[in-house]
Amino acid sequence: MRRLEFTLEATAAGSQARAGRFTTLHNEVLTPTFMPVGTHAAVRSQRREDLLDSGAQVLLANTYHLLLRPGVDILQKFGGIHGFMNWPRSVLTDSGGYQIFSLPGSRTIREEHAEFKSYVDNTRVRLSPERSIETQKAIGSDIMMALDHCVPSTVDHTAARSAMELTHRWARRSLAARGDSAQALFGIVQGARFTDLRLESTQVITEMPFDGYAIGGLAVGESSAEREECTTTVTRLLPRDRPRYLMGVGTTRDLLEAVHRGVDMFDCILPTSLARQGVAFTSLGRRDLRRAGYVAIEGPIDPACVCYTCRTYSIAYLFHLHRVHESLSWQLLGLHNVHFYMQLMRRMREHIFAGTWLPFYHAQRDLLDARDSYGEAATHVTRAQRQRLKRTRGRYEVIVRDGIGFIREVNSGEVMHPIDDPAEEARLLYVEQSRLLERLRTPEDEPLVVWDVGLGAAANAMAAILAVEGSAQEHPARRLTLVSFENDMDSLELALDHTRWFKHLRHAAPRSLLSGHRWTNETSAIDWSLLRGDFAVRKFDAPPPDIIFFDPFSIKTDGALWTLPAFRELASLCAHRPVELYTYTYSTSVRAAMLAAGFYVAKGRGTGPKAETTIGLSERAAMAPHQHELLGAEWLAKWRRSDAQAPFGSPAHEASELAAVFLHPQFRA
Ligand SMILES: [Zn+2]
Repeated sequence: MRRLEFTLEATAAGSQARAGRFTTLHNEVLTPTFMPVGTHAAVRSQRREDLLDSGAQVLLANTYHLLLRPGVDILQKFGGIHGFMNWPRSVLTDSGGYQIFSLPGSRTIREEHAEFKSYVDNTRVRLSPERSIETQKAIGSDIMMALDHCVPSTVDHTAARSAMELTHRWARRSLAARGDSAQALFGIVQGARFTDLRLESTQVITEMPFDGYAIGGLAVGESSAEREECTTTVTRLLPRDRPRYLMGVGTTRDLLEAVHRGVDMFDCILPTSLARQGVAFTSLGRRDLRRAGYVAIEGPIDPACVCYTCRTYSIAYLFHLHRVHESLSWQLLGLHNVHFYMQLMRRMREHIFAGTWLPFYHAQRDLLDARDSYGEAATHVTRAQRQRLKRTRGRYEVIVRDGIGFIREVNSGEVMHPIDDPAEEARLLYVEQSRLLERLRTPEDEPLVVWDVGLGAAANAMAAILAVEGSAQEHPARRLTLVSFENDMDSLELALDHTRWFKHLRHAAPRSLLSGHRWTNETSAIDWSLLRGDFAVRKFDAPPPDIIFFDPFSIKTDGALWTLPAFRELASLCAHRPVELYTYTYSTSVRAAMLAAGFYVAKGRGTGPKAETTIGLSERAAMAPHQHELLGAEWLAKWRRSDAQAPFGSPAHEASELAAVFLHPQFRA
């Protein structure tokens, strides 16, 4: 029985690039083509309508994952994967070989079968070539893959040969197991990075009557040059009348290079996985929405794209969604990325037909970003780079000076508590200035509520906790309720991975806060809780504060928290209580914003290179006896000469707001 009926329609001059078509049990597939990855019978965060719109012709699903969940019985009950996920076009299933390979330590490979531990319930699962085909038959994919033995690109020649030979024997068994099923079956060429093995494997596999041939064992740590050389070696020997599939590859540029070398089909998780990280593939190259520069950019993320995302939203909006961790960001960027991949494949096909492949290829090579990687499997990453990766999480990295760790925000370069010792600064600026211990010694029924705005690596919160625990000879007279606000836990998680440089985190509290969002110490009468999300929103969920440690990133990085409207909201929450706010800045326009919002503003103590810091007092705090030195005529005179007169976040010449500063009661002599 002949399946797929591949037709070679055109070949590009001066290149191996080719255009073709074949027919599966569900639709006609035009090549070259990209297959979005639907690991669990779903392409991450993408609706089927959007996938259909993108022009996706084949989805890839993972046999290994579907075998564990939902299991073969459920799939069969719904008439296979097409009925289960209501997908009208083709599905290709992998054999499970790659997943077995990518779970080191939990597998054994024998002649008869591979055995691995289920990540779902820890039972041992055996996958033989026959079981893999039987499962893929039950899934009902249009194209099945033969079970192969995939090894890392770093193995030696002997190990590579032995894995390759096992792959060949399993290929024969897979073909026999397929029998007269109408489902197509592809064989896989292995051989790691060794040219002689790749040649031998291609010869052996192509002698078997598969419906198509795949190049496996790439995108597992080799360099792109090695991958391209291997692709060239193999495609030269593959029969012209069968589709060719390069498994697990890759970036848009990888696709261009592989089509140039004669490959027809691809799959990769990058369009959706990088979408989650805020990265878009565009006709202008890669765009990384973690870069602060996109904050106010109008226009679509790709001016040449007509997808739903690009028709509907500006870059600034997508940037915002990503920054606030809105899942819609993942979905919209994923939609665009899938669309971009499909569009790129269609354009390649057009240029092959039009006889303009070579100029197109050369122009695109410069455009499509070549600096991509495959994440942790990439062994071409140098040791130094890997070391750096370990010190990075999300938009944060650890830097170490004199054995002390600091957290740096990568996009802005801003360092949290940049001077001397973060823990020491936290103690001086927040714990000591606020007379925290003294206030806890005064008996009160109500707990003392401290807001910790910008948890970061928990330097301020832990300074408070350690101070209270260190001082409490007996049970404190007053309970401490500490509420931390943070929208991005990456900095704390990163610091917790490196407690040798962050000594203040060698304590049970931070991990407990991370996992359960609260921590309590009955002996010292401390309750610490975490409110995740934007302070602008979450502050309404917290008990009203007595003291605020106001320590978010600066105006440059986290501007919204420092504006006049933000301080006005805060002032109204504090209107009927004596509240003291401590912050590290002494910026004139921030002080002006606090004054215009209704706070009384006093000088805070200096720390490191800063001559001063700032203390904001609610009216009731200012009226009560205190030892703070309010800004006076001298500051006002300086402010009037300043070019930063306008409260931050308000128009430069808003007379009423300038007057609110100038006429503030604290300046009435
Ligand atoms: Zn788009």
